[in-house]
Amino acid sequence: MEKTLALVKPDAYSTGHLDDIKKRIEAEGFKIVQEKEVKGTKSQIEEFYKEHEGRPFFESLTTWMSSSPFYAMILEKKDAVKAWRTLMGPTNSEKAREEAPNSIRALFGTDGSKNATHGSDSLESSAREIGIIFG
Ligand code: GDP
Repeated sequence: MEKTLALVKPDAYSTGHLDDIKKRIEAEGFKIVQEKEVKGTKSQIEEFYKEHEGRPFFESLTTWMSSSPFYAMILEKKDAVKAWRTLMGPTNSEKAREEAPNSIRALFGTDGSKNATHGSDSLESSAREIGIIFG
């Protein structure tokens, strides 16, 4: 069993898509082992997205993610990291609509930045990110 971190980002959370996203998560056989609403501070979110420091979208991404609440869940399943990323679909919501039309980002994302959800990209990232968000 693996654990991964799932975030329902402010775009999808503020527009009321949490329940639909949780239904998909549960239908795919993930167990939600912890969950809570989070209002991240700018410095917490900068630490979270540290690997993107210096990229052109870093400032807008961290400002956006710390400006309104999001919803965090620790998901557990066999191969959870990969399974959750597959269920989310490609990073860019437009690409997701073309390549994975039933994915969460295709259904609930807007563009390449406001893309509804986050998922850890490895087991190492998942442990680090769970530590930042859940302590
Ligand atoms: P993810 O693992 O699929 O979330 O993608 P990344 O780790 O590459 O990027 C983290 C987050 O930064 C993405 O989910 C987007 O919200 C945002 N992001 C990534 N690439 C871009 C980009 O080219 N432009 C903008 N505006 N945002 C981006």
